[in-house]
Amino acid sequence: MKAEMSISIDEKKALQERVKRLKEEKNAVILAHYYQEPEIQEIADFIGDSLELAKKAATTDAEIIVFAGVHFMAETAKILNPSKKVLLPDLKAGCSLAESCPPDAFRKLKAEYPDHVVVTYINCSAEIKTLSDIVCTSSNAEKVIKSIPEDKPIIFAPDKNLGRYLMEKTGRNMLLWDGACIVHEAFSLDKLLEVYRENPSAMIIAHPESEAHVLKVANYVGSTSGMLNYVKSSEHDTFIVATEAGILHQMQKNVPHKKLIPAPAKEDNTCACSECAFMKMNTLQKLYNCLQNEGPEIILEEDLMEKALLPIERMLELS
Ligand code: SF4
Repeated sequence: MKAEMSISIDEKKALQERVKRLKEEKNAVILAHYYQEPEIQEIADFIGDSLELAKKAATTDAEIIVFAGVHFMAETAKILNPSKKVLLPDLKAGCSLAESCPPDAFRKLKAEYPDHVVVTYINCSAEIKTLSDIVCTSSNAEKVIKSIPEDKPIIFAPDKNLGRYLMEKTGRNMLLWDGACIVHEAFSLDKLLEVYRENPSAMIIAHPESEAHVLKVANYVGSTSGMLNYVKSSEHDTFIVATEAGILHQMQKNVPHKKLIPAPAKEDNTCACSECAFMKMNTLQKLYNCLQNEGPEIILEEDLMEKALLPIERMLELS
């Protein structure tokens, strides 16, 4: 990691060119999440949030999908393309939210409430998806909840912050799994308000994985693509952005004349913002290596993929 950080701009460009050549030779597509490092976003064929990436993965005709994101996202791409090779530059790129929902414990909860419809946020393992009736992302979660008949009780997992937000938005009472994302729970409300006092004309925008007190002061709450659209179309020119800091790259490209301030985290850190250490495990060098070696590859059992596909397809039909 240190060695990669010290590579010169020329070396980085050369490596990017090698990645581009390799992906053409191998008929590969690079799908990257907005939270990836800028140097990876720059060479991706498609950059998006979880929903956009899942849709793209479902329709690509490339033979190899290189997923620059975290494990559950690459798993989703594999479930949607069981016959294709899906690569993840670093298999250890997990997700605190997905890990907060272990399958055995979730199976137990589900068994206690057999009449409940199970809605799971896409940030969960493939095994949890097999226990779900329908999957959702932050872009379509409201629509998914509203599609469930009023008289049906709902279990929502794994993100309690998104769950609470959805309960407020839809008026539906749901049984919430007690999971959270470490990145979105790291924002400090006090520090955020301090930044706001210094920039009183700023709009506060937040991802619904953030804690309730942050969402309460936000002028806009939405998915990463929702936030990007909001900043693009807003008449305002200053924004305090409460989500993973990687989004700022694409956002600033869209609105070079606007001022974007990352929401500060509780812990002191150099950029005063939250970064997902899991997302940042993928590096340009690892991306090149994985394309070159065609590994690490996501391997899932057929049966698991078949079961996990149903709730994902239900979501895609609704989106
Ligand atoms: S930002 Fe949070 S939810 Fe997203 S991958 Fe990182 S830990 Fe998971």
